[in-house]
Amino acid sequence: MATEPIDLRALDFAETVAFARDQLGQPDYRGEQIWRWVHRAGVCDLDQMTNLSKELRAQLASRVSLGHLRVDRVQTSRDGTRKMRLLTRDHHAIESVLIPDGDKLTQCISSQVGCALDCQFCATAKLGFGRHLDAGEIADQIYRGRALVAEVEPGRRITNVVYMGMGEPLHNYDQVIRSLRILTHELGANLSYRRITVSTVGLVPGIRKLATEPMRPNLAISLNAASDRVRDRIMPINRKYTIAELIAAVRAYPLERRRRVTFEYVLLAGVNDSRADAAELARVLRGIRCKLNIIPWNPHPEAPYRRPDDRAIAAFQAEAKRHGLPTYLRTPRGDDIDAACGQLAARQDGQTLVRLGKSTR
Ligand code: SAH
Repeated sequence: MATEPIDLRALDFAETVAFARDQLGQPDYRGEQIWRWVHRAGVCDLDQMTNLSKELRAQLASRVSLGHLRVDRVQTSRDGTRKMRLLTRDHHAIESVLIPDGDKLTQCISSQVGCALDCQFCATAKLGFGRHLDAGEIADQIYRGRALVAEVEPGRRITNVVYMGMGEPLHNYDQVIRSLRILTHELGANLSYRRITVSTVGLVPGIRKLATEPMRPNLAISLNAASDRVRDRIMPINRKYTIAELIAAVRAYPLERRRRVTFEYVLLAGVNDSRADAAELARVLRGIRCKLNIIPWNPHPEAPYRRPDDRAIAAFQAEAKRHGLPTYLRTPRGDDIDAACGQLAARQDGQTLVRLGKSTR
């Protein structure tokens, strides 16, 4: 009976070496060579593994898959942001965004097909939950990103990675941690934990668990409100974990020297954008080594919100700063191609959203 092929992308380094040793009878350096092909070179075809014998490649072909994501479409924004639509083997569409910013090139990756969290202002939420991505699919977005960059801007490199695409990374905890282990391995993509940020709606047990990992990425919290009254309404997860519980978990998150937690705050006109909100926010975050990123709401047809006008945005920022909170205004990137925060919904041109299926909550 044929056994299901093993997806090489989803194995970590030790597992790859063990696989080569135990399943293929190969010495450890062979496993290491395979690893380099899969994760450093990012090959899509076993025949590109030219330092392996033909026999070994044939043996591999009968056992493993490199079932990488298929790039379905690339869109380029007038500001240089690029959005990739990627198809999984079971034909789900996910999105991943490359954002140039001076010398920096940040890739924003997805952790799930759709999302189960139902934040009222977010387009991804409106899709509902499809499924978790596995670690191979998470890492492979970077390999597809690297290949795209090599094609369009040879010599440039992806410098930063943010888990801020579709999905809630801490809802898919184990695969996200595994993907971090894969992407940071020095013989693979060799990304640094210091240049990776995981963003969460505030799943408190997940934050507490992440705090115990030996290697930790930067942490971003999508706070979006300073009071439970407002947050309960726009982020239903707050009914499970209140702001006080969330902030307590963040305070306990160990920060390395010169690191700080990022709080994100989607600014919604008339909902959370008053001066009193800004002052309250500064009070809630007092004493945490952090910065605040204000993200004026990016429009999409599925939610009834408005972006505050420039004066209101400036007033909010000034008030937060006046109360001692380091506050930055995020300019929308790629909003003309629906690539900005909260706009990822893997839609076809002009298409309205089709829900993915039952939410699992
Ligand atoms: N689920 C994780 C990862 C997604 S990050 C999280 O929520 O943190 C996506 C960010 O975009 C979040 O900070 C979210 O609050 C913000 N966002 C969602 N919809 C938005 C919109 N329409 N305009 C601006 N920001 C939005």
